[in-house]
Amino acid sequence: MYKGKLAVVTGAFRGIGRACAEKLAESGVKVVINDVYNREQAERVREEIEESGGICDIMMFDVSSYREVEEGFAKIVEKWGNVDYLVNNAGIVDDNLILRMKPESFKKVVDVNLIGAFNCTKQVVRNMVKQKFGVIVNISSIVGLSGNAGQCNYAASKAGIVGFTKSLAKELASKNIRVNAVAPGFIETGMTKKIPAKDRERLVENIPLNRLGKPEDVANVVAFLLSEEASYITGEVISVSGGLHI
Ligand code: NAD
Repeated sequence: MYKGKLAVVTGAFRGIGRACAEKLAESGVKVVINDVYNREQAERVREEIEESGGICDIMMFDVSSYREVEEGFAKIVEKWGNVDYLVNNAGIVDDNLILRMKPESFKKVVDVNLIGAFNCTKQVVRNMVKQKFGVIVNISSIVGLSGNAGQCNYAASKAGIVGFTKSLAKELASKNIRVNAVAPGFIETGMTKKIPAKDRERLVENIPLNRLGKPEDVANVVAFLLSEEASYITGEVISVSGGLHI
């Protein structure tokens, strides 16, 4: 189904991005993992994927820098050919109540989470149109759908991803390019590690399935959306939140 196709996953050295890269590599997809920090960690992820029989490469760039993204994708295409699947996963938080939030914090979060997705998508769409095939999955968040006090920057960026996804889905469907979003709830990754134990307990009580999600819970849905099994699905936002978003 996927064999031989090329995927780029941004922010893939840990957490959800890493789980997506591993899942795709297991299915026979060639995977280029991107991140902006920690080359050593990237090498470890690559080694693990290769030890399990997968094909993996690393491309370091900051998704919020158009110049770096353009150079990074040019190198990927030169070495591996056209990108078939793009997972716009790289993301950050910088939480604060609006009274305390600095303008730089709002901008930084939007730059990485939303502009970053635009920067990467821009690099792959032309070739996807030419080859009349491509699938893009953008990682949003249930916070982008419902809002969350203390996260107006993050929620705005993730709500932006929803509009971006739906617009591209309409724009590109006739070229056989599908674009969907996944909106995770609370997933156990570096991003949610800082939540204090007490708050975590309260949080879990509110999740109908009674646990935080695992990166693999999200990766499974991303892989499904990329696959041919989802060939009639575009412009959707699928929550993976253990029911928290009901
Ligand atoms: P994470 O912090 O574990 O991973 C994010 C990765 O993105 C890191 O490896 C980080 O180095 C990378 N990254 C950050 N800025 C970057 C940049 N400028 N360029 C390239 N890479 C960059 O977080 P995660 O939980 O795995 O989050 C992955 C995605 O899922 C994010 O978009 C996040 O907003 C979203 N999400 C996470 C949760 C959750 O509960 N963990 C919930 C909803 C949505």
